Amino acid sequence: MDLGVKGKVALVAAASRGLGFAVARRLAEEGALVAMCSRDQVAIERAGKEVQAATGSQAYAAACDVTRAEEVEAFVAEVAHRFGRLDILVTNAGGPPPLSFEQTSLEDWHAAVTLNLISTVTLCKASVPHMKRLGAGRIVNVTSIAAKQPVENLILSNSSRAGVLGFSKTLSVELAPYHILVNTVCPGYTRTQRVIDLAKARVERYGISEAEAYDYWNRQIPLGRLGEPQEFADVVAFLCSERASYVTGTVVQIDGGFVQGII
Ligand code: NAD
Repeated sequence: MDLGVKGKVALVAAASRGLGFAVARRLAEEGALVAMCSRDQVAIERAGKEVQAATGSQAYAAACDVTRAEEVEAFVAEVAHRFGRLDILVTNAGGPPPLSFEQTSLEDWHAAVTLNLISTVTLCKASVPHMKRLGAGRIVNVTSIAAKQPVENLILSNSSRAGVLGFSKTLSVELAPYHILVNTVCPGYTRTQRVIDLAKARVERYGISEAEAYDYWNRQIPLGRLGEPQEFADVVAFLCSERASYVTGTVVQIDGGFVQGII
């Protein structure tokens, strides 16, 4: 299937590793020109070079902390200036720390909402005017299964991610007249540094082995295993593509069947 993204400009946030990196690489494999950011200049430059070397597509990589509105605005403006357009936005960030309610401070709450909800808003705010000018666009907001099914000890994530679902659905309605399609994806347990960190936290919290931490997750996933970043990226690339031209306002789980709800 030709995704029809060749020559399109795709901005992928938080892309130095993990899910964001896999999406940037996948879109570049399909011929998109990608712009990638994360906080660390050295790491994102390395990631950009890796994408370019592996795919032959142009990859622009720069440091940008998505929790800082002024950095996001500057990065998006630079991408639109360099490439002359912006067709695709994939919002993404890191995840908040695993804590129970009583372990959290008010600062933790502000930080989590800024990291996972406000950063999505900021990236969309800066990008939508460029898409409106084109009269077309794709936005895919990366959140988490935590938005649909609360995860133990992740109250910060469970709360802030759910807000992204309400934001995305509303935005999809408001932007439909401009042919800008907005969807949300909910990754389940996927083999990245984030999951390694969460496994370590379970080892410390419960005094179990790392193998037991992974077994605990595998038992809850109907497909019986963690996902691979590539499997996540394939679905996101489809939603970014011309082939998904009648899909907007949806929430897609990429979780091996983890979420037990039926809607
Ligand atoms: P990861 O830790 O492997 O990578 C996170 C990326 O985000 C890195 O490139 C990091 O540099 C970047 N980043 C972090 N904070 C940033 C900031 N403020 N500004 C810019 N870049 C920033 O994580 P991942 O597994 O790739 O996860 C991506 C998102 O998906 C996270 O929000 C994570 O919580 C969520 N998620 C992941 C899983 C999973 O199993 N991997 C499951 C559900 C949700």
